[in-house]
Amino acid sequence: MSEKKLGIIGGGQLGSMLCSSAKKLNIKTTIFSDDNNAPAQNFCDEFVCGEYNDKQKILDFIGKVDVVTYEFENIPFETLNEMNKLKPVLPKPSVNRLIQHRIAEKDFVNKLNIRTTRYVSIEKKSELETLEDFLPGILKTNTMGYDGKGQYPIKKIDDINLLNLDFSKGYILEKLVKLKKEISIIITRFGNNSYEIYEPIENTHQNQILKHSIIPAKISNKILDQSIDWASRISEELKYIGTLCVEFFIDRNENLYVNEIAPRVHNSGHLTINAYNISQFENHVRAVCSLEKIPLKKLSNAKMINLIGNQIEPYRKNLKLEENEFFFDYLKKEIKEKRKMGHITTLI
Ligand code: ADP
Ligand code: MG
Repeated sequence: MSEKKLGIIGGGQLGSMLCSSAKKLNIKTTIFSDDNNAPAQNFCDEFVCGEYNDKQKILDFIGKVDVVTYEFENIPFETLNEMNKLKPVLPKPSVNRLIQHRIAEKDFVNKLNIRTTRYVSIEKKSELETLEDFLPGILKTNTMGYDGKGQYPIKKIDDINLLNLDFSKGYILEKLVKLKKEISIIITRFGNNSYEIYEPIENTHQNQILKHSIIPAKISNKILDQSIDWASRISEELKYIGTLCVEFFIDRNENLYVNEIAPRVHNSGHLTINAYNISQFENHVRAVCSLEKIPLKKLSNAKMINLIGNQIEPYRKNLKLEENEFFFDYLKKEIKEKRKMGHITTLI
């Protein structure tokens, strides 16, 4: 059995699930989070609380682990780079820097001849006034957005006058895709041309937050092949190590687009815990800790429903589950509107 000690930056539900998988593999975990109440402290072996740019805390953390990974992408590049000088950080810091910036990410994808939505960089308000061609669109901050935060739908030019935008940050304006469906692909890459790939997952969003995920996705064979091909090419090109998620749009004319890439385990892959022999979390731990790659086997179709805000309350009070239902409580102290509090996976 491995004696490796894994450090994880970020203490949310994804961190917790990585810790649970690591435990199964006899790997000790240390979580580094800037949140005193981080839920992952309930699941890890050690917890370091500090700001992500606190040099002393970074050294404390790095001294406790053999390899570092992360559960969210908004980590200062300098922090990852400094850590990487002392212990390997996987996926590489440069991958995180590329993907945490929406324009750099889309430029990279387009260079691979893979389609994204049309987009343009916006640095000042006056630039928005001439971009009729990109409307209806969505204006997004280039960095730090998640679960629809930092996003502004724009139907007509006048809409921008209602927005209170901070142009010290950069923005991207994306043309709105007329969505038929959204899917995601989760892939774990272990090394050159060595990866395990989960089947496409069909995702439904409400108010730009993921609501449910289901396998099998109802998609054509063409979209199936194309999405698998694009996700593998992206992970190969990044020389990625670990689990990666590619989010896709399918438009009403059956065109596939890459929406965004997550350099980490992903909410849409929670159903892999119950639906596969090896979950996205276990595969991530296996890849970053250089453990054996085991062929994936699907055990069942499945549907995952996110419990957002107070939707968790009835489940906490009265837990009556069927045999094919699995409830996960992220043990977050405070219930907040739009906050992901837990999920239910049903095997179908
Ligand atoms: P986040 O980083 O918050 O996940 P996304 O760019 O993935 O941001 O946007 C969240 C959701 O908003 C998408 O899954 C999709 O439902 C909707 N959305 C975002 N951009 C577009 C777009 N250009 N066209 C259509 N829908 C979009
Ligand atoms: Mg997204």
